[in-house]
Amino acid sequence: MTRIAFIGLGNMGSGMAANQAKAGHEVVAFDLSADALARAKEQGMSAAASAAEAVKDANVVITMLPAGSHVRDVYMDAILPNAPTDALLIDCSTIDVDSARTVARDASMRGFRAADAPVSGGTAAANAGSLTFMVGCREQDFAEIEEALKPMAKAIIRAGDSGTGQAAKICNNMLLGISMIGVSEAFALAEGLGLDGQKFFDIASQASGQCWSLTSYCPWPGPVPAAPSNRDYEGGFAAAMMLKDLKLAQDAADTTGAPTPLGGAAEALYSELVQRGYANKDFSAILQMLRGRL
Ligand code: NAD
Repeated sequence: MTRIAFIGLGNMGSGMAANQAKAGHEVVAFDLSADALARAKEQGMSAAASAAEAVKDANVVITMLPAGSHVRDVYMDAILPNAPTDALLIDCSTIDVDSARTVARDASMRGFRAADAPVSGGTAAANAGSLTFMVGCREQDFAEIEEALKPMAKAIIRAGDSGTGQAAKICNNMLLGISMIGVSEAFALAEGLGLDGQKFFDIASQASGQCWSLTSYCPWPGPVPAAPSNRDYEGGFAAAMMLKDLKLAQDAADTTGAPTPLGGAAEALYSELVQRGYANKDFSAILQMLRGRL
């Protein structure tokens, strides 16, 4: 049995930690929220009084926190000074590449093995244990990291060395944001031209415009019954989360000098959607903004 310290029991972390407990591991959980800790206890985990206490005797430390600043603080103040140096450190949060590399470098300087392992898949996949992990770590550490992530995963892919898991995540989500806007623009134009939405779907899904945003997550209500467009754009992947990832991508593009004109335009459009008060709507609601309905 592995002793896992799990820090950050929010929308994603609570289900992920529960799956580690279900797999038979001893999970010592910590979150700033007392409610989250109470729920963890109900699910068979023990609750620590602090992050420092949670990591004290851990074999594996998993963090699932909001952003880079939280991860840097928890690593510097609690994990690196208190965890045993043979513990495996895995950060699953979506954060900027620089923070991921800083944390990994500081961990490695103190003798730890560390990985950035952000996820694809929302809360449903977190609860079901079917997330896809994109891992940045040393090649020789990957087998052990893969083993530690298995109870939470459908797929675990090593992207390369430290920071490349985060790089894969923000590049993928920039592509997703751009493709969702592209599909939405096409539906809005089809509507303006008097072309039926379902007919356009039937044709484009068999033609060269086909992509995941169209055929698995269609923003036009009807063609894909499971998509949030059929539930007034509730649930799914919030516009605010998409905006966070697009900002990370643009910051990274500024740092590296990579040209991302469409990524920049996508950030501006999602920023407008969020400013109009639709931060919690699914990101496919961008169609409704383009149609002038929001
Ligand atoms: P969340 O805000 O629901 O959860 C974050 C948790 O961290 C909260 O419970 C908060 O109390 C806790 N926390 C903050 N600072 C802490 C500290 N210093 N010590 C202990 N606990 C602390 O966020 P979430 O939706 O669970 O997302 C977590 C991460 O996963 C984010 O980086 C997000 O971008 C990423 N992500 C989210 C989704 C999604 O669909 N929600 C999907 C993929 C990736």
